[in-house]
Amino acid sequence: MSHEDPILIVGAGQAGATAAAALRAFGHAGRIVMVGSEQPLPYERPPLSKAVLCDAAMDERIGIHPAGFHADHSIELRLGTVVASIDAARSVAHCSDGEALSFSRCLLATGGRARGLPDLPEGTPGVHTIRTLADAQALRGAMRQGKSLVVLGAGFLGLEIASTARAMGLEVAVLESAPHVLARAVPVAFSQWLEQRVRRTGIDLRLACRCTSIRPCPDGVEIALDDGSALHAALLVVAIGLVPEVELARASGLELNPVNGGIRIDAQCRTSAAHIFAAGDCTSQFQPLLGEEIRLESWQSANEQARIAAGGMLGVATEPAATPWFWTDQFGCNVQMLGMPVPGLTYQLRGSQAPDDATPKFLLLGFDSEARLCHAIAVNAGGDLRQLRALVERRTPCRAAALCDASIPMRQAVRDTVAATYSLP
Ligand SMILES: Cc1cc2nc3c(=O)[nH]c(=O)nc-3n(C[C@H](O)[C@H](O)[C@H](O)COP(=O)(O)OP(=O)(O)OC[C@H]3O[C@@H](n4cnc5c(N)ncnc54)[C@H](O)[C@@H]3O)c2cc1C
Repeated sequence: MSHEDPILIVGAGQAGATAAAALRAFGHAGRIVMVGSEQPLPYERPPLSKAVLCDAAMDERIGIHPAGFHADHSIELRLGTVVASIDAARSVAHCSDGEALSFSRCLLATGGRARGLPDLPEGTPGVHTIRTLADAQALRGAMRQGKSLVVLGAGFLGLEIASTARAMGLEVAVLESAPHVLARAVPVAFSQWLEQRVRRTGIDLRLACRCTSIRPCPDGVEIALDDGSALHAALLVVAIGLVPEVELARASGLELNPVNGGIRIDAQCRTSAAHIFAAGDCTSQFQPLLGEEIRLESWQSANEQARIAAGGMLGVATEPAATPWFWTDQFGCNVQMLGMPVPGLTYQLRGSQAPDDATPKFLLLGFDSEARLCHAIAVNAGGDLRQLRALVERRTPCRAAALCDASIPMRQAVRDTVAATYSLP
């Protein structure tokens, strides 16, 4: 591949936009065409469930790059356009407007769509999901009219929406089929702390419950639950996960992970076709910390894979992917996570986990059987979390007691741990 060859990016979201910028930064001088099915310039999705829901002025402030960036870097945009098919053998893509785009390398950055409920057709009055800016704008408008909202799903997204809606004064209920909130991502101790915090805001949080029917009615939605109770609300937000957008990849004959449905990529983000790469929420990749292939839906992962894919397409060596990091803002807390919730970790607390603290500050540190820090959760303590990055990356055996002693500054505790492990003077 020469630095003049044309590159096609399918999907103008986080991974697509980041990859386009990285290709130019790595010196690619050839044509870059980025096709995106949404109309707006590439934008950040994390604010959609936070500031955008309550503040229309945010709509203009969430661009991934400044307005003139793509023209300045000769990145051709085809917005509001769908890539309908890819002929991998001939290296040509066909767009919904009839344009055929030849490429030397292609990046699939097609993200995903909000998982719906089979019995609720898209467009059912009063029922919302959030994946796009248009979704968030529609929900924002409805929240200004409606006084009550039920969120289905107590994952990160569902809880963020509930937190924002409650802060806007709506009556909010959250329904979750698992016994705890965020059940797959955090230890039970953290879930229980957050559940208390959610309930203290006046949210009706119902765990281990299932909807048996959801019916639109003239002033909202009626929801029947398996315990025989029923809820009525002006609005229902379905936040039960993401379906990766992989139909193009499937039709092009690319290998998909049979379990998680993502497009299988190697460490360089290359798919089963050597000249087609993929990045972001649509992918499935081996995660060394877990020892298995997963689909990671996160802003950082989309950016990291985009950077590595750009390097891979050009044959430029890149730094390996950074340790997974994730954040969420909800219920007055900035929660950041580093590493992965590997099964079998023992979590220890640094700081105080009192649920009624207006601005709590603590960390939960997850150690494996060899005292290595594998997963860290920081509540309003992002600065401390940053200090831990090297320990997680290098899998350093740690002195947990020192790291969890809040009277020792984190920087000092990390230094002591490293010195003790490597017997430094
Ligand atoms: C409401 C919300 C809040 C979030 N909050 C956080 C957070 O707090 N922290 C965090 O780490 N992560 C968060 N995320 C996740 C993060 O935003 C995603 O992981 C990230 O956007 C994934 O980027 P992507 O490029 O893979 O997909 P996307 O950003 O979804 O981009 C994919 C794009 O491809 C387009 N597309 C698909 N198929 C085609 C086609 N055939 N032709 C043309 N275009 C196509 C889609 O329309 C879309 O525009 C949040 C996500 C949402 C939705």
